[in-house]
Amino acid sequence: ALTAGIVGLPNVGKSTLFNAITQAGAEAANYPFATIDPNVGTVEVPDERLTKITELIKPKKTVPTTFEFTDIAGIVKGASKGEGLGNKFLANIREVDAIIHVVRAFDDENVMREQGRESDFVDPLADIDTINLELILADLESVNKRYTRVEKIARTQKDKDAVLEFKVLEKIKPVLEEGKSARTINFEDDELKVVKSLFLLTTKPVLYVANVSEDEVGAPDMIDYVKQIRDFAATENADTVVISARVEEEIAELEDDEKAEFLEAIGLCESGVDKLTQTAYHLLGLGTYFTAGEKEVRAWTFKRGIKAPAAAGIIHSDFEKGFIRAVTMSYDDLIQYGSEKAVKEAGRLREEGKEYVVQDGDIMEFRFNV
Ligand code: GDP
Repeated sequence: ALTAGIVGLPNVGKSTLFNAITQAGAEAANYPFATIDPNVGTVEVPDERLTKITELIKPKKTVPTTFEFTDIAGIVKGASKGEGLGNKFLANIREVDAIIHVVRAFDDENVMREQGRESDFVDPLADIDTINLELILADLESVNKRYTRVEKIARTQKDKDAVLEFKVLEKIKPVLEEGKSARTINFEDDELKVVKSLFLLTTKPVLYVANVSEDEVGAPDMIDYVKQIRDFAATENADTVVISARVEEEIAELEDDEKAEFLEAIGLCESGVDKLTQTAYHLLGLGTYFTAGEKEVRAWTFKRGIKAPAAAGIIHSDFEKGFIRAVTMSYDDLIQYGSEKAVKEAGRLREEGKEYVVQDGDIMEFRFNV
């Protein structure tokens, strides 16, 4: 499964957020195959459509799909110099598919900023810079290594792949040297494959989390720190999610009905963990399809762009091996017509084959040979 790693400087609220994630966590009984790792928090992906389908079909059981957050351990500062725990920090980031960068955006004189700082003032941009700089330096080292190796081969113009790789490296190097992340670069389609093969850290999709004070979370637009973070994120085409980690910890302890009431009282319509989950899900290019029977209505995560047999394989490898076709309707059609029968009568029930590219919101039933 794809995972998003939570990073941030010490004392910005990562553990508080991760605790909230683990506590809000998916019920293990429903997901016996979920990762068992203290650094991984599995949450259910909130989805109104699943609720609506359940209301229509009234199955015995409803199972949401899940998403995994990874708590990234290790020491940030000096990480790119490659010593001990710093190395671990970079290695852990290398393994995740997206980065969730938590930034302190709350004033609280009882909570110190990272030790050894020149000033004690909260400074989101300086904090972002500290982490990004380590990632940029690590990438610069990888790029320089490749650069030296590929340069000669590319100069002879004989090896097409080397020429293309060199072109990409020449594009990335000066940007990193300027202290910017490689994700700020627009690559051509043919270059993207090369970029992927470089396994850089600063090309991973990122999402910034502004951790604001519990008193201000209802009116984030009024917070100057949030504005600063949003403006910076925009330079990387990245999203910003505003949460208060401390509030999330409280929410995680509540029952569902109390939760709605509590959220309303502080001026929110959904929890920060829910918002974060949905945003990370989209950042990773994930979509949801549903299976809907009387026994069970269930949501499944797929990587957008995959075809029907691969989607079937997410449920069971036999479904993929013996795939014949997928009886498919869209979520919108089910809601509009009210039942599968009515969707069929309206001529909207489709028989999709091996080449069908699965769409977010598809409701599918796979036919397969055993
Ligand atoms: P980490 O080092 O990034 O994991 O940070 P922690 O989660 O341990 O948080 C550091 C300190 O900041 C703790 O004392 C938290 O209670 C406090 N903290 C975290 N989130 C908030 C918040 O939203 N508001 C306030 N006032 N304090 C917070």
